[in-house]
Amino acid sequence: MTVAVVIPAAGRGERLGADRPKAFVDVAGRSLLEHAVDGIRPVADLIVVAAPTTLVEQVRSLLSDVEVVAGGDVRQDSVRAALALLPADVDIVLVHDAARAWVPVEVSWRVVQAVRDGADAVIPVVAVTDTVKEVESDGAVVRTVDRTSLRCVQTPQGFRRDVLVRAHAAGATGPSATDDAGLVEALGLTVVTVEGSAEAFKVTTPFDLEVARALMTSRSAGV
Ligand code: C5P
Repeated sequence: MTVAVVIPAAGRGERLGADRPKAFVDVAGRSLLEHAVDGIRPVADLIVVAAPTTLVEQVRSLLSDVEVVAGGDVRQDSVRAALALLPADVDIVLVHDAARAWVPVEVSWRVVQAVRDGADAVIPVVAVTDTVKEVESDGAVVRTVDRTSLRCVQTPQGFRRDVLVRAHAAGATGPSATDDAGLVEALGLTVVTVEGSAEAFKVTTPFDLEVARALMTSRSAGV
């Protein structure tokens, strides 16, 4: 089965407050996007990156072995633009975040294997370790949520290609639309989970970037 990896990298990353789009922020001499591509290459027959319109050419010269397309205003548009480029022989699509640059390759293999085994959609998850509370808009606590059945969801998320294309065409909005699996859920199909990893964290805030840089430093020092 042919596996394509789609990497939306067209976000501005405003919460990071960097001087460039998040995927292009440097960690240990390379962009987050390059680290993310390196990490997922072993499972991919081809990779399509959705880049900010102004950086499409830069990504083409940076990553000569990936297809590059201009992304859109919201993540879903960027994923859809990349899906439109996939050749006919692709059966499995993984959708990954450029902002999750250190996903252990075992996690990506687990996702691929679960789709190969027949799942329509697969997400890597980790347990929620903090106590979780529902709050009012003014911050007052409504209740404590039972966290035993809750999971934090990561990428890469894996799909049968036809299912993902159908889910994006249906284009759900609302709470289920913050990830690609949510679109599949909105179709009424089953999404299965596999074990994710703490290392698959998403760089969102300046603190996350500090963690990412520290991780790279300790890895290159062999710690
Ligand atoms: O902003 P957030 O961290 O949720 O973005 C997740 C991923 O989606 C990032 O890799 C980001 O570059 C990408 N994205 C995109 N196009 C957008 C918004 C986000 O490709 N319009």
